[in-house]
Amino acid sequence: MEKVCPICNALAEVDEKCPLCGNRLADGGSLQNYLGSYSPYVESSTIQLDISEHYCVHLLVCENCHYDTRMAWKLIDV
Ligand SMILES: [Zn+2]
Ligand SMILES: [Zn+2]
Repeated sequence: MEKVCPICNALAEVDEKCPLCGNRLADGGSLQNYLGSYSPYVESSTIQLDISEHYCVHLLVCENCHYDTRMAWKLIDV
């Protein structure tokens, strides 16, 4: 058994709507991919570093109004 992120592995789709315009948010990728194993940006947000072992944090972007947010997905067993 291996723990993987369902979004990174295309096992699930992002199903979040933009709070500003209602457009469907697009996956901007895992923050781990951008920033390595830790992120100085995550620290100040509501997402804490200590969950990074069990969660994959993604950047979600609205292609309509350029709103962006971060969201953590729980890793799943495959
Ligand atoms: Zn991921
Ligand atoms: Zn939007």
